[in-house]
Amino acid sequence: MMNVIEFFRNLPKKQCSSCGNVIQEQADCYSNLCDECNSPAR
Ligand SMILES: [Zn+2]
Repeated sequence: MMNVIEFFRNLPKKQCSSCGNVIQEQADCYSNLCDECNSPAR
């Protein structure tokens, strides 16, 4: 039987469509941009 938790852990992380950085899980609700590219203060 497959371990569901391991399955989700092995999912590929999202990457920023702008710079290619790995996007943190908390940014899942945002677009495909990392915190740096998505930061309005930049
Ligand atoms: Zn980025």
